[in-house]
Amino acid sequence: MTRIGAAVIGAGVVGLAVARRFARLGLETVIVDGEADFGTWTSARNSEVIHAGIYYPFGSLKAELCVRGKKLLYDYCYARDLPCRQCGKLIFAATPGQGVALDAILAAAEGAGVTDLRRLDAQEVRSLEPLLGCHEALLSPSTGIIDSHAYMQSLLGEAEDCGAQFARQSRVTGLSRRRDGWGVHIDGEAEPAAIASLVVNAAGLTAHLLARQTQGLASGHVPQVRYARGVYFTYSGRAPFSHLVYPVPVPGGLGTHLTLDMAGSARFGPDVEWIDEIDYSVDPARHVGFLAAARLIWPELEPERLVPGYAGIRPKLSGPGEPAADFMVSGPQDHGLPGLVNLFGIESPGLTASLALADLVAEKLGLGWEEDIDASR
Ligand SMILES: Cc1cc2nc3c(=O)[nH]c(=O)nc-3n(C[C@H](O)[C@H](O)[C@H](O)COP(=O)(O)OP(=O)(O)OC[C@H]3O[C@@H](n4cnc5c(N)ncnc54)[C@H](O)[C@@H]3O)c2cc1C
Repeated sequence: MTRIGAAVIGAGVVGLAVARRFARLGLETVIVDGEADFGTWTSARNSEVIHAGIYYPFGSLKAELCVRGKKLLYDYCYARDLPCRQCGKLIFAATPGQGVALDAILAAAEGAGVTDLRRLDAQEVRSLEPLLGCHEALLSPSTGIIDSHAYMQSLLGEAEDCGAQFARQSRVTGLSRRRDGWGVHIDGEAEPAAIASLVVNAAGLTAHLLARQTQGLASGHVPQVRYARGVYFTYSGRAPFSHLVYPVPVPGGLGTHLTLDMAGSARFGPDVEWIDEIDYSVDPARHVGFLAAARLIWPELEPERLVPGYAGIRPKLSGPGEPAADFMVSGPQDHGLPGLVNLFGIESPGLTASLALADLVAEKLGLGWEEDIDASR
């Protein structure tokens, strides 16, 4: 029987950040993923925005880990010449009445430790984005964009350089308790493929399903997870915007916004649609609604240039109409089982928070925090 220090289940951005962290601590680490490559689920289907931490309630994990993760992520990228850009973001009030929403966002952001937001009048907005017609806006200068694939590649590379292994096409179907760790069962095998002293369940959309197959884990420590699909339509051509542009938020999401990628392409979305199964389809008939939402940002947008893009799915711990739930990072002190951490509900800002989440997982397992992300460069 193979014995290892740690099994990290899920090679999305969070699992990779955790694996890198463990490997750098000298733990013999195996990253296990059911797919043929890393980062093919939610980590490949998002907006690639480095969020400032504006919308999350004071004291929440989302607020704390987003603000801390943003700094860690910029430092990580700058130190390694990874593609990212602090392009800034505008949250605009389309009508005078929405100014109240901007007041609330500003107050909440300051409470959560985001102190660099600036209020702009319509003329100041026009000087930054001449095509955006609005009443007023907030500018978030620390918001940015990142090439998430390059970032994940770097995390995996660093983990492997420190001795970690990546087990592809290996779906974990159960975790059994052993005297000296956890049996990791692959593809329904009764015998574990390995015994790991530490296990981190970073299985994203299906983390709750794996948790249900974890021996000894009481059902009260496995939350109900709901799926909220977010669809994008992309703009074919070069968009005349240099900032990310958001309306005031809507229930369940941030509202259909305009984001840019590192290649300068623009996309509109994601919207919010509650679904029961994992289904990434994009219905071309939704063009009408997307065009209407996109024209709030860019009134002259040519309809034929707006084309169906892709979809991502948020693993949500709250349902429609309920207050947004926080991330749930559940370790031994929470559920009582040694050596196990489950991550649930890692929706946005999980990409931004990934390095801070890795620190939190290490802390939950008694491994301590990494003070200097670049200490070993
Ligand atoms: C529409 C949308 C937009 C978003 N935009 C942003 C944004 O702009 N900025 C931001 O910070 N965050 C954003 N997010 C959130 C961010 O994308 C996620 O928080 C992050 O990608 C989650 O990463 P993960 O590693 O937890 O999960 P995933 O990326 O889903 O990875 C989970 C991995 O686990 C593997 N797996 C699952 N089950 C098993 C099993 N049983 N055995 C083995 N492997 C398994 C899967 O194959 C997968 O590779 C967005 C999310 C969505 C849905």
